[in-house]
Parts: sequence; C-alpha cells; structure tokens
Amino acid sequence: MKWHEILIRYGEITTKGRNRKLFINRLKENLRYTFADIPNLRIRSERDRMYLSSNVDTEMEELIERLPHIFGIHSFSPVAQCEPTIEAMKELAVEIVKGMDYKGKTFKVNAKRSFKKFPMDTYELQQAIGSHVLGTLPGMTVQMKKPDIELRVEVREKAVYMMVDVIHGAGGLPIGSNGKALLLLSGGIDSPVAAYYMMKRGVRVEAIHFFSPPFTSDQSLGKVKELCEKISRFGGNIRLHVIPFTEIQQTIQSSVPENVTMTSTRRMMMKVADIVRKEIDAKAIVTGENLGQVASQTLESLAAINDVTTTPILRPLITFDKLEIIEVAQKIGTYETSIRPFEDCCTVFTPANPKTKPRVEKMNYYESFTNFDEMIEKAVKNREIHTFPKKKTDEFLDLL
Ligand code: ATP
Ligand code: MG
Repeated sequence: MKWHEILIRYGEITTKGRNRKLFINRLKENLRYTFADIPNLRIRSERDRMYLSSNVDTEMEELIERLPHIFGIHSFSPVAQCEPTIEAMKELAVEIVKGMDYKGKTFKVNAKRSFKKFPMDTYELQQAIGSHVLGTLPGMTVQMKKPDIELRVEVREKAVYMMVDVIHGAGGLPIGSNGKALLLLSGGIDSPVAAYYMMKRGVRVEAIHFFSPPFTSDQSLGKVKELCEKISRFGGNIRLHVIPFTEIQQTIQSSVPENVTMTSTRRMMMKVADIVRKEIDAKAIVTGENLGQVASQTLESLAAINDVTTTPILRPLITFDKLEIIEVAQKIGTYETSIRPFEDCCTVFTPANPKTKPRVEKMNYYESFTNFDEMIEKAVKNREIHTFPKKKTDEFLDLL
C-alpha cells in the first residue's frame, strides 16, 4: 500500500489551553529526534493535527511501525491520495480495503467534499465507492452505525484523501513537557516499569544505578545497561549514572544493627541520588517501590527513607499488584531482561530478619557514628556516566 502521509491526533495535549503550542512543538522535536534515522521525514503541524510524510515508501512503513511508541499521540491514521476522479477513487478504495482483514466485517463509506464543485454529492460518492468495493471484495455487509471498517474519503480540489485505520498511539504527554526526574534503576522488574509511567506523563528520565563490585558482577551491570537501551526507545536519550557503592554498603554492614541495614542502604541511596539530582537539575526522584512487596516497602520504611531529603520522591507503582507490573513489563519489552538471574547489590546484603517498621530517630542515631557524607561525596565524584541509545560508533569502540 502506498501511503501519502500520516495524520496524527494529539489527544490529551488538546486540553492544555495556552500551553498547547509548547506541547505541540515538544512533540515535533521528539519526533524529529526519534526519527533522526529517517532522512526524508517531513513534519507539518496544525492546531489539532500533525502530518508526517516521506516520499520513500519503506520510510512510511517504518514510521507506521514505530509511531505507537511515541508519547503524546492519541491515535494516528495512514492517509492515501488519488486524483479527483471517481474512477481513481474506486480503485484506491479497493486497494485500501484489500490490504485489511475485511472478510465477515461490517463496512461503510463516509465521504466529505470540501471542493463543492465536484460533480457528485457526498451521498452519490458514498453509493458509488461503497457498491464498487462491496462488489469487488465480497464478504462484507453494510452497517451505518459503528461499522468495523469505515473508509473516510475527503474530496478536495486538487486531490482526494482516504483513510481507514485508526491506530492507537501510546497516549500520555510528549517526553520533556513535564520536566526531568532521576530514576533509581535496579536490574529488577519494577523500576523500568516506573520509568515507563513517568515518561508517559511527559517526564524526561535520567537513571542512577548502585553497583557493588565484586559482590555484584559485570553481568548485573550489563542488565541495567540493556534496560536503559530498551527504555530509551520510548523517546529521547537516557543517561545512566553508575555509582560505586561497595564502600558505603560495607560500612553500613559494620556500623548499624543488622536488621536495619536495608533501611540504611535505601537512605544512603537517596542521599547519593539527591546530590546527582541537583547536579543534573532534575526536580524529583523516582523509584519502583511498591507498598507491601518486601520489608523495605512498608509505610514506616518509606517514611524512614524519605526522611533524608525534602525532594519529592515519586513512586508510580506504589499501588500496583506484582502481576499487573509484570504484564506491563512484558508489554514494554523489559521483562525478559529483568528476569535474567544476576544478583543486585541489595539482594547480596539482605538481612535475614529486616525490620519492617524502622523508626526515623533510631536510624538517625545509628548512622550518626559514621561519616557517611564523605563516602557519599566520593561515590558521586567517581561515578561513570553512560548514554543510551548507544550510537553504532560507540558499539564499535566497545569492541576494541
Ligand atoms: P525492582 O524490581 O525495581 O528491583 P524490587 O521489587 O526488587 O524492585 P527492591 O529491590 O526493594 O524492590 O527495590 C526497590 C526500588 O529501589 C527499586 O525499584 C529501585 O527503584 C531501587 N533500587 C533497588 N536497588 C537498586 C540499585 N542497585 N540501584 C538503583 N536503584 C535501586
Ligand atoms: Mg530489586
């Protein structure tokens, strides 16, 4: 099928009043960035719609395949074009419907004439095109209300446009339209899903990972990098800050009671994350925490973790069931990577009986005998930063 252009419907952006222009421009920029590898892409935006096109057929197909991942798009439709003659319209209508799974479906033609001088009125157009399609492609029945296939025909002076598919977009808001946040990314199932939901609300995400060699292996870090690569498909690039965490974690083991080491670890992670957050000018910290899933995820525990900073800590998965999270992880393609069995820095040091209701005052007291701040500063300074998606040239350099 030779498509002429793709019509994009904004969805939620349209409710944004005066900010609308900013949102539309952001979406346009994101599309340009994400499709930088499509050289002939053209983008045209109007108040309610945006149109993408390329004069190369394979590029159009590629766009149709990749568009469902872009946030800020409610739905889109590939549009075909023909000469403004009834013969050309009949031919194009058959070609479009033939490419669909049409047998046994209900069908209707919906015609509009913005070129009023066209010799047939909309009723005649619908009759002529409809009966030609039904005669050529048997197996469909006509239905006026909510048909399975609605072929829309728009007659303008110089050309006729037709579309049929309304393909669901990813919804949400364009990435970057709601600021930036720093995500605590482990190699587990939850945190990549948390990233997805933040990005869906228009937040640009950078990731921070705590790495404790030799207790955690290069393979576990490899998993985290692979997750970043996957998340970056949803738009824009992702920077990953890898924090050397061994010294801090070992010091926690030797300086606070065993049953609160996990709480202390989380608090130190937050302190480190908050310094990095400030440096990159992000406005919030995001985690994949979920109420009641493990000992460190009780309300008391979350309160003890929050106590180390006044920065908003967002937990988009807080009320999800694990099965719901897994479903989303599968849908967004991170699940297979997340379940690969490499140890995380937290699992290695998990105490046998973690305290489920740690008290903030006690935590402050236990930690007061050690100069954690100095270690934290050092860890932040010695972090490694990687950017995803990796360019082909970077992959090549890695091989050398
Ligand atoms: P996940 O599946 O995301 O690992 P989880 O259910 O296994 O979550 P925890 O391991 O307790 O739960 O981690 C809770 C959250 O703490 C994670 O979602 C993540 O945001 C953060 N976190 C845990 N370990 C790390 C790490 N090594 N580096 C960065 N963030 C981490
Ligand atoms: Mg985990």
